[in-house]
Amino acid sequence: MNPFVGATERELAGAVADWAKGLAGRIPAAEKEGALPRDVIADLGRLGVLGMTIPEAAGGLGASGVGFALVLEELSAAWPSLAVGVAVNSGIVAGSIVRHATVEQRQRWLPKLMDGSGLGAFALTEPTSGSDAASLRTAARREGGGWRIDGQKQFITNARYAPFAIVLARVGELDPKRTAAGITAFVVPLDAPGVSVGRPERKLGLRASDTSAIVMDGATIGADAVLGEVGKGFAIAMSGLDGGRIGIAAQSVGIARRALELARAYAKERRQFGRPIADFEGLRFSIAKAESDLAASRLLALRAAWLRDRGRPFTREAAMAKLYASEMAQRATHAAVQILGGNGYMRDYAVERYARDGRATTIYEGTSEIQRIVIARSLLAA
Ligand SMILES: Cc1cc2nc3c(=O)[nH]c(=O)nc-3n(C[C@H](O)[C@H](O)[C@H](O)COP(=O)(O)OP(=O)(O)OC[C@H]3O[C@@H](n4cnc5c(N)ncnc54)[C@H](O)[C@@H]3O)c2cc1C
Repeated sequence: MNPFVGATERELAGAVADWAKGLAGRIPAAEKEGALPRDVIADLGRLGVLGMTIPEAAGGLGASGVGFALVLEELSAAWPSLAVGVAVNSGIVAGSIVRHATVEQRQRWLPKLMDGSGLGAFALTEPTSGSDAASLRTAARREGGGWRIDGQKQFITNARYAPFAIVLARVGELDPKRTAAGITAFVVPLDAPGVSVGRPERKLGLRASDTSAIVMDGATIGADAVLGEVGKGFAIAMSGLDGGRIGIAAQSVGIARRALELARAYAKERRQFGRPIADFEGLRFSIAKAESDLAASRLLALRAAWLRDRGRPFTREAAMAKLYASEMAQRATHAAVQILGGNGYMRDYAVERYARDGRATTIYEGTSEIQRIVIARSLLAA
């Protein structure tokens, strides 16, 4: 029972959870290979999951933010690497297009986010700008009736699968006093001349999720590639990240939930000193605390999604949810490893992977430190 969740949202999440049960056998090979199977992405397209945040009038499911958070929890519980790709595609990328694109841009790009042929990418981070995103150096200038873009984006999820990326680039010179000025969002097709994708990063976790650089070396795109207005891209990125943070909170909840489920099942089976280890108070207290933190994290994520669905401000609540849930996921997955003892450290047991996969949640879409800055700023403003 959850105060923020309606029957439709519960059913949607249940359907995705049922579908995701079939993935288990695919995960080890895909994680080893470092790639999401194309047919799984295609399936998500067929099921409507990829278009779930897109309005029905545009061909999507038009699901609520609460519904999307629940679905991301289920996908993350099943397979974190897959959930990250969906979160970016159907969260920040689809959301930015729905909110800021022209009718023509929507008609051109939304089908590509829904049809299961790929997963969209969002490209903000650069080698010299991460937390300080407004200091980005990628430059865009008008050329030949369109735009020319030069620069490099780093750590971009889905780059290898993406039909296009939303790229944040600066129009005009950097003004050190107003670093966000001039930043513009562009829809860059990844097959445009001058665009290439770097080699996939080798990561601690989320190994089947693609994380690669996007290099733009005299990339040429059309005049119609600007998303929103020239110079308003930073606001587009920041509002996209607000929503994305709810998704990361939901991911963290899914990762922690499954790790703890596995740990509970193990604790009931594993015997030491003549009894199941689940009988030992030290272990029981660890589970009780972790499950309480998990429940609190889910409520924070759903509260932020619920506010968003009602058009209410949710920046602070999304940052709180992301901060609390991602930090919770570190504690929960490490508690799960501890409960499995030596087996928890071994690759044959999935908790090892959940602990590695969960590590990124305190880093991407704004580190924990950045969430604290966002929360404190909103609390102490004026
Ligand atoms: C798996 C993965 C997928 C990613 N996917 C994407 C993607 O799809 N698109 C995209 O654009 N980016 C993506 N990123 C990049 C991610 O958003 C950045 O890594 C993140 O924002 C942090 O930036 P950074 O790595 O440059 O760290 P830095 O900004 O260099 O930070 C280093 C450390 O300094 C701390 N720090 C920085 N500033 C402050 C401050 N003012 N106060 C206190 N502490 C501070 C940080 O919290 C951190 O601990 C991804 C990253 C990972 C790991």
